[in-house]
Amino acid sequence: MSLISVGTMAFDAIETPFGKVDQIVGGSGTYVAYAAANFITPIQQISIIGYDFPQEELDELKKRGVELDGVETVADKKSFFWSGKYHLDMNNRDTLVTDLNVLADFNPIVPDSYQGAEFLMLGNLSPHIQLSVINQLKVRPKLIAMDSMNFWMDIALDDLKEVLTKIDVLMINDAEARQLSGEFSLAKAARKILSMGPKFLVIKKGEHGALLFHEDHVFFAPALPLEEVFDPTGAGDTFAGGFIGYLAKTKDISFTNMKTAIIMGSALASFCVEKFGPNRLKEITKKELDARLSEFVQLVSFDIDLA
Ligand code: AMP
Repeated sequence: MSLISVGTMAFDAIETPFGKVDQIVGGSGTYVAYAAANFITPIQQISIIGYDFPQEELDELKKRGVELDGVETVADKKSFFWSGKYHLDMNNRDTLVTDLNVLADFNPIVPDSYQGAEFLMLGNLSPHIQLSVINQLKVRPKLIAMDSMNFWMDIALDDLKEVLTKIDVLMINDAEARQLSGEFSLAKAARKILSMGPKFLVIKKGEHGALLFHEDHVFFAPALPLEEVFDPTGAGDTFAGGFIGYLAKTKDISFTNMKTAIIMGSALASFCVEKFGPNRLKEITKKELDARLSEFVQLVSFDIDLA
């Protein structure tokens, strides 16, 4: 069982109320790969990097079972660069810089060895690139999930809508769901977005958890109330990686199993925010993950007598 992950591999500059880093490895694909590798290997990565992307990071990813045959290196250009600033309410951030660099003329080529993958995670990236990957796959994966963001809704809405007709699960945050649907109520937004193509919709609400919509069903997963949130960058991608990694491991794409997958994604995201960049993700042990999962179980379990 394999999983293709498409996304950026990047450098980020991040400022939060608790610190600042001028250059740290990031990118949607990087976070997805680190998160999904907790559940399944190989992860077949598709991305593009410049001459500046650190070899140690590539080695670290490989060590965890991430195949890099689909990662193109451009010798004379810089990697994608993103810079963001968080305020005290870390659910909101300002994007300060998005330098596409190598991403500007990326035409992904799906290696032959990736054909036949049963799961596809289209990480946050240009919808044009997401579409190109879907179109190159000779056999449609069992499940295609996709992340996106306001940046792409602003500049490539038609392409994005086309991708929506070809996928199974869309994962976006609440502001993006409102932007995409033109509806303020998330229930109405969900109904509208589900009519655009995806069968499942995950709406991420940062420290307020996530909602899963499917037909007339809705499931809510909380986020763990953490004492310290250091850097929320990558939490959404980590969530996505944990979600699809767990589905790929269990090979079960039912609504019921997706509820568990959402908790897995939330647990991994709760680690991601504890340190800058993907650093915390590299340290998680199975024991730590299990302990955090039981915190989730305790958080939402209660008795009620309706008699
Ligand atoms: P998240 O906090 O989960 O939304 O993801 C943050 C990561 O997404 C950062 O590491 C960035 O490098 C990457 N990123 C930011 N903007 C974009 C974009 N427009 N396209 C693709 N990746 C992006």
